[in-house]
Amino acid sequence: MSKNDVQTYEYKAEMKQLLHLIIHSLYTHPEIFLRELVSNSSDALNKIRYRQLTDQNILDKDKELEVKITVDSKKKTFSIEDNGIGMTKEELAENIGTIARSGTLEFLEKMKKENKQGEKLIGQFGVGFYSVFMVTEQVMVETRHADKDSKGYRWVSSGEASYTIEEIDKKNRGTKISFTFKETANEFAEEFRVKQIIKKYSNFSDFPIFLGKEKINTIEALWRKRENEVKADERNEFYKFITNDYEDPLGYLHLSLESAGAEFKALLFIPVKAPFDLMRLQQHKTVQLYSNKIMIMDDCKDLLPEYLQFIRGVVDTSNLPLNVSRETIQASRIMGKIKEMLTSKIIQWLQRMADKKQEKYLMFYKTFGPLFKMGLNSDFTNRQKLIELLRFETSTRKAGDMSSLKDYTGRMAEKQKEIYYLAGDNREYVERNPNLEYFKKNNVEVLFLLEPVDVFIMPSIPEYDKKPLKSIDKGDIEINPENDQAQQKEDNLSKSLMGLFKDTLKDKVEDVKISKRLVNSAVTLVTGSNAVDPQMERMMKMMGQDVPASKRIMEVNLDHSVIKNLSRKYLASPSDYFLKKCIVQLYESAQLIDGELPSRTEYVKRMMEIMEEATK
Ligand code: ADP
Repeated sequence: MSKNDVQTYEYKAEMKQLLHLIIHSLYTHPEIFLRELVSNSSDALNKIRYRQLTDQNILDKDKELEVKITVDSKKKTFSIEDNGIGMTKEELAENIGTIARSGTLEFLEKMKKENKQGEKLIGQFGVGFYSVFMVTEQVMVETRHADKDSKGYRWVSSGEASYTIEEIDKKNRGTKISFTFKETANEFAEEFRVKQIIKKYSNFSDFPIFLGKEKINTIEALWRKRENEVKADERNEFYKFITNDYEDPLGYLHLSLESAGAEFKALLFIPVKAPFDLMRLQQHKTVQLYSNKIMIMDDCKDLLPEYLQFIRGVVDTSNLPLNVSRETIQASRIMGKIKEMLTSKIIQWLQRMADKKQEKYLMFYKTFGPLFKMGLNSDFTNRQKLIELLRFETSTRKAGDMSSLKDYTGRMAEKQKEIYYLAGDNREYVERNPNLEYFKKNNVEVLFLLEPVDVFIMPSIPEYDKKPLKSIDKGDIEINPENDQAQQKEDNLSKSLMGLFKDTLKDKVEDVKISKRLVNSAVTLVTGSNAVDPQMERMMKMMGQDVPASKRIMEVNLDHSVIKNLSRKYLASPSDYFLKKCIVQLYESAQLIDGELPSRTEYVKRMMEIMEEATK
């Protein structure tokens, strides 16, 4: 491209829709545009600062890093200029001409339908720049990359269908964005308004922000102060600044630590809300790494184990040289040490919260539990502490009441030797599980595992307080040891009836047994002692893994009137075909309750035949 050669580019269809959405309905506070632009400038400045540490061969290498804003209240114009890293022509087209992440549009549309406030989430999607179209009809971006042989470019768009790019003379490195306000946005052409907004959202920016000649932000490394020197308001503002969150955090942890060669300060936060897609760690940010007040990484995932990567905030250490590469950071021993110390402090923090601020802890647990609990399978050093932090609903407490394993064992009757649990998709579903009947009747408490990850972590806890943990879905649980009622019932008639069940169901089940656990239901399906938990089996199938379906054991309740009737019929005519039909129907009813019925039509057809027989 030679100078004065203006090229026009069409936005992709998806981009047009996105722009329309942003401009007309996503944001409810137009002032956000300023926060987004300042935040982009800060990012660009951070990038150049980092690059300067290792590479002196750049444009304007000795210039002070800063952001300059100008407004003209008469002409209603605005500009923001930084001497950050700038953009190449390709970057211009790629970064601000397309949507960075696929799926963004669908997600934002859904959000709009649900009437959520867009700006609360917008920062997560890398479309912040477009918020300027709320306050103007047309935007001009002039930029030059920090590479010495770079050229300057001008990008202009009115946000509707297309943008243009042309080569320009630009002496200095960095980016300038300028535009004229729409009439509805004229208030932002006033200096006091701009100042107010910067104070509100960008006060903690690492770089000086000038409005005209006046520097309007205070640059402060809050984490370097003592905890009691920082006001709650300041801390919350700081949190909002680094996360772009709208709400105050759920809690914070202020640390200043020194041990065995690692020294660091940290100010950490737990957000109230989880990021979109909590479990996809690559897609959301965690903590920033500073070296002596200078940010060297804006998202340092190596500082925390995966299961704690919902934590936000800043870690600042003087042990790392400024000019280290990212690879060195990752491999450094100091980093490992800091990670270890952080992990242990964060767990203590959660433990304190669980002890002293239960409600808060449960809020945390509900929001971040699915990720946090995974720590049980990966962090063996802190495993015991993590186990203490688990919470469950249980069969003897009302829905929503959460108990720890300690609470549970504290309530156990002396003769109970095991801890029982039952997994299922929701409370209603587990409450209906026939395997729970015995426990309910005898007032034995059962933990409910209502979250999908629970079935992955429980098998890794074989016992707590010397008491084995057992799924009541399993065939081998030791219940009712004193009362051998079931044993006595194993008379000849029952035995041969069980034989008929086995003959009828054949390969469908591993075995048929007389049940000790059923009270109201006629039959139930349980898992063999070595088989995969059915909940786990379903999860694995959902994740597309091949699981050989393990056969279940059918348990029969001899006290149930249907079974009694079948018994009587069996005595009268052992080879009655109707008996077999009923047995298959009982088996499939149990499958139905477990959500595993293979054919509904067969099931209903057979039910009709049985009803016909009964109403004859
Ligand atoms: P996000 O900042 O969340 O990625 P934006 O839409 O605000 O999303 O910006 C898109 C991209 O455009 C940025 O990631 C960055 O690469 C580039 N960009 C925006 N503003 C600047 C700037 N002032 N200097 C350099 N690059 C910028």
